[in-house]
Amino acid sequence: MEKTDILSLSLDELGQKMTELGEKRFRAKQIFQWLHVRRVFDFDKMTDISVQLRERLKENFCINGLFVRKRLESAIDNTVKYLYRLSDGNFVETVLMEYSYGHSICVSTQVGCKMGCRFCASAIAGYVRSLAPSEILMQIYETEKDAGVRVSGVVLMGIGEPLDNYDNVVKFLRLVSDKDGNNLSLRHVTLSTCGIVPRIYDLAELKLGLTLSVSLHCPDNDKRSEIMPVNKKYDIAQLIEACKHYIAVTGRRVTFEYAVIDDVNSSDRDADELAALLRGMNCHVNLIPVNKVKERSYHTARAGVAEFAKRLGRRGINATVRRTLGSDIEAACGQLRRDAAQHETEGGADI
Ligand code: SAH
Repeated sequence: MEKTDILSLSLDELGQKMTELGEKRFRAKQIFQWLHVRRVFDFDKMTDISVQLRERLKENFCINGLFVRKRLESAIDNTVKYLYRLSDGNFVETVLMEYSYGHSICVSTQVGCKMGCRFCASAIAGYVRSLAPSEILMQIYETEKDAGVRVSGVVLMGIGEPLDNYDNVVKFLRLVSDKDGNNLSLRHVTLSTCGIVPRIYDLAELKLGLTLSVSLHCPDNDKRSEIMPVNKKYDIAQLIEACKHYIAVTGRRVTFEYAVIDDVNSSDRDADELAALLRGMNCHVNLIPVNKVKERSYHTARAGVAEFAKRLGRRGINATVRRTLGSDIEAACGQLRRDAAQHETEGGADI
């Protein structure tokens, strides 16, 4: 019999499992707290649970750990990038960032990505599978343990498209914010999507209170389709409509991510089109200097980003330039995993 991934279960589901095993339902809360509050991932160490029940837990459940394969620490700004090995040998990346108000963590939601954005390193190594809720959660728990910090914010901006792993991501969000468990306010969580329109409507209905961040990158359909294939399925008009709906239903401001790429999306005309598209919306534009990906030729001049921000400002659109963190450790998502995957297939031992 296959064992159940206990860290992916909600408190309710764990209670149900206890009943099925003929145990008292309240045991679920004890176990849930061992896992999510005390972070004990060995049933034998759950000392207020009888030896008999611990044996049954071991027979029925598994705890899939993550293992640090590589840790890169920035000498510039304390950003730490982790390459984690999952229990099936796949890799994901997680980035811990330090801000004046505390620590924020960027987690992956899939091994690889299907979306194929042209400028993104995650697309290059290909898609393998979606992560379980526990595998998203464990990136936080392991990083907190390794770094000796408590994170106060989470961004779903690592490898993968969160809305292409919708059910598991929603389960993760409920777990990470569970009052009896990790208890992180979803106000401090940002979910970034390339624009899977139907799932934006679904997410709006849940009214989770998180920040929705949309990777727009282009105000023009032809150009956006060229750099982001998802645009061929859900075009800009549909995407903006979904965002307006999200804002109306949740009362939350939406962020638009815009990687400023030389000769692609940073002309005066692009600024005009972007301003026209977003005018009147409760939104904010986050300009990103594009990270260099060695297989791709896209690049930004930093001055180009500031200049583009000014152009938007003159057109009444509020834009900020994202601080570049960990620039000395390749914090751009997907790069480490791609190298590790290549290395494994070439039979290498360490990276
Ligand atoms: N799939 C989701 C989340 C992961 S990507 C999404 O598309 O939003 C997180 C952010 O990094 C996105 O805004 C993405 O477009 C951006 N990004 C990807 N590659 C980049 C690069 N080389 N330079 C700058 N930003 C990049």
